[in-house]
Amino acid sequence: MKDHATGIGALALFLGLSGPAAFSQNAPDTIDAHLIAARTAAGFEFTGTLARLCVAPIAVPSAMQDVAPGPVPARDTWYAEPAKVFDNLYFVGSKIHNSWALTTSQGIILIDTLFTYNSEEEIVGGLKKLGLDPSTVKYVIISHAHSDHDGGAKLMQDRFGSHIVMGGPDWDSIEESVNRYPQGKPKRDIVAQDGQKITLGDTAVTIITTPGHTPGTLSMIFTVKDNGKPLTVAYSGGTAFTFPFTVANFDTYTESQRKMAAAAATANASVLMSNHSEFDSAITKIRTLPARKPGEPHPFDLGKMAVARYFVVTAECAQAARLRLGQHPK
Ligand SMILES: [Zn+2]
Repeated sequence: MKDHATGIGALALFLGLSGPAAFSQNAPDTIDAHLIAARTAAGFEFTGTLARLCVAPIAVPSAMQDVAPGPVPARDTWYAEPAKVFDNLYFVGSKIHNSWALTTSQGIILIDTLFTYNSEEEIVGGLKKLGLDPSTVKYVIISHAHSDHDGGAKLMQDRFGSHIVMGGPDWDSIEESVNRYPQGKPKRDIVAQDGQKITLGDTAVTIITTPGHTPGTLSMIFTVKDNGKPLTVAYSGGTAFTFPFTVANFDTYTESQRKMAAAAATANASVLMSNHSEFDSAITKIRTLPARKPGEPHPFDLGKMAVARYFVVTAECAQAARLRLGQHPK
């Protein structure tokens, strides 16, 4: 019975019949039902996200603590080659974390900046290797103020005068931090608003505020071109449950996943991107690109249904974790 009801809800969502609300109405509110719904939605594409959020969503909130960075890991554990991925989107990330350069008619919009220790080599060095000029980065959008994404913000601001875009609460957390930024903090610049468009030349990135992973987490919608064919990207800006485990926080997170699912559906997004390879398999997909034959779909072009399924995984795992709170009352 439970599976059946969940299936109907999932089907309604996938077909876009009545949106995420129908899903939540139909899914029985039990841990098992949410786990099954997440597993079904994950399919083969989102096993990393499922594993992180549903299988082992144990709180390890070191990222939310104001602690100084640890020792720099060995280069071969993180270094990845930069790559051109779409006509106007370039990967300048590491093996674990993504940083993307969106090229426009008037410069570059950079999305996320890795750690302080590898942003110089991966981003500045990577752009140069790809024949792009880092001094043309006009905007840097930081998905959220954790050290694996905001580590190069100060570098880009200081050296190239790039404007840094971040959610208000995450700017606050940077300013309040005592320990996280021993090499200095980026100065408060653009405070992102929900629905805001960051426009540069012929290109715009639409900001969707998705509080949850952090209070100021930003997700995004933008367009890339694949051999001239436009494709819409849904970029998920925060995924893991690295927040205090409360019912309210899981509800906020879940609402944001549904909000982003709706924004992705409205925009006809067929590409799902994240800031960790763990969640969007960026490194694996980039590795397959050189072998792509003419006419084959782009490895990042999963289709609208798969993008919808991604946000079912995150929302359903959050609902399961929320119900687990009741099993371990403090
Ligand atoms: Zn984070």
